[in-house]
Amino acid sequence: MGMRVAVVGAGIGGLVLAAGLQRDGHRVRVHERRADAGTSGAGLTLFGNAFAALDAVGLGDDVRAVSGTGLAGLRAGQRRPSGRWLAVLPPEATASSRSVHRADLHRVLLARLQDGSLRTGSPVTVSGDGSPVLRTPDGEEEHDLVVAADGLRSTSRRVLGLDTGTRPAGYTAWRGVTRGPLDVGGQAGETWGRGQRFGIVPLPDGRVYWFATATTPGSPESPASPASPGSADEHDAVRERFATWHDPVPACVDATAREDVLRHDVHDLARPLASFVKGRTVLLGDAAHAMTPDLGQGAGQAVEDAATLVVLLRSNPGTGDGLAAALARYDHERRRRTAVLARRSRLVGAVGQLSHPLAVAVRDGVLRATPAAALARAAEQVQRWTPPAPARR
Ligand SMILES: Cc1cc2nc3c(=O)[nH]c(=O)nc-3n(C[C@H](O)[C@H](O)[C@H](O)COP(=O)(O)OP(=O)(O)OC[C@H]3O[C@@H](n4cnc5c(N)ncnc54)[C@H](O)[C@@H]3O)c2cc1C
Repeated sequence: MGMRVAVVGAGIGGLVLAAGLQRDGHRVRVHERRADAGTSGAGLTLFGNAFAALDAVGLGDDVRAVSGTGLAGLRAGQRRPSGRWLAVLPPEATASSRSVHRADLHRVLLARLQDGSLRTGSPVTVSGDGSPVLRTPDGEEEHDLVVAADGLRSTSRRVLGLDTGTRPAGYTAWRGVTRGPLDVGGQAGETWGRGQRFGIVPLPDGRVYWFATATTPGSPESPASPASPGSADEHDAVRERFATWHDPVPACVDATAREDVLRHDVHDLARPLASFVKGRTVLLGDAAHAMTPDLGQGAGQAVEDAATLVVLLRSNPGTGDGLAAALARYDHERRRRTAVLARRSRLVGAVGQLSHPLAVAVRDGVLRATPAAALARAAEQVQRWTPPAPARR
């Protein structure tokens, strides 16, 4: 007999967890506060570690079916705004990368949920003492386990007393997807300027997912609403900033509908949490370890969290000491890995956003001098992940 599990939030982390647990026979209910569980968003890059995790819960092929080869097979790495290459990633660093439109990813994950297991328009609150009781719009619900996957601004994290706060990364990010196919000339990846970056990632159908960043010193905080809906003003702003950058940077923006450009001030958690677990309530994904997008690993880590928990619960630990031991192992394994990646991601972002001409010259010089083997090693370290062995009873 499976466990009764409540999942707070139908983001990537919550959906992968729910589908994985249901596949193993657990009875799962997902609460999503938004009225619609789909997403618009833009694109996403997932690396080999995310696919190892998706495979561990039986979802890898579904996601492969809607994703493309991303940067694999392309000349990828870092360029200057003039188009001159600073660093070319060796093929092994991008071989496992795949790109997907967020809406497609959500669609395939939602399709795997058992009918009737998702409640939308359902903002819920966890119990501060970690007991597996949820306050829902329809009253209290008791489960064997509650998993809070409620994102960067997680109220669960605060209610559980585990919050360390969020902090701005010091830059804003725009994202968009071209309306139709766009030829990137076999080249992709990021272009680093002074306090500005632009990234190009082809999607499976030939459209291009792009992102752009700009340093925002002293920008007003907007904690309640970090993402601005698409607006023509944002389209103009990004078009103007990157107008003189190499091809096809301006073309990517021109080929995107004016109302489809999203802007988002980037934040991560102020400090790693002391725990991802309290009693029988678990934090997962951005709620546990929101990191900057500079390694392209936020969703990948949410998926790893989900797969780790699914695998650890496969040993059917019951609801007593066995469950406590499984959750302690989840906490130990996931906190260690995500703290390292969050730190590294923030560092990459800080280096990428450098704007002083001298600092940029040094950065670019170091990038040019870095051997391809070192770039491959760094990528391999980030992307190396295997599911835990299930606990013995
Ligand atoms: C610019 C940018 C680019 C990125 N690019 C990449 C990339 O290329 N690769 C990558 O791996 N990651 C990337 N990320 C990170 C990735 O988007 C996130 O890490 C990932 O989406 C987190 O998923 P999640 O399920 O933890 O949280 P979310 O997706 O935030 O989902 C949380 C869900 O919980 C719901 N919710 C919140 N509170 C409640 C409540 N009280 N009750 C019920 N529901 C609730 C919300 O409505 C939401 O649906 C990027 C992020 C940014 C900002």
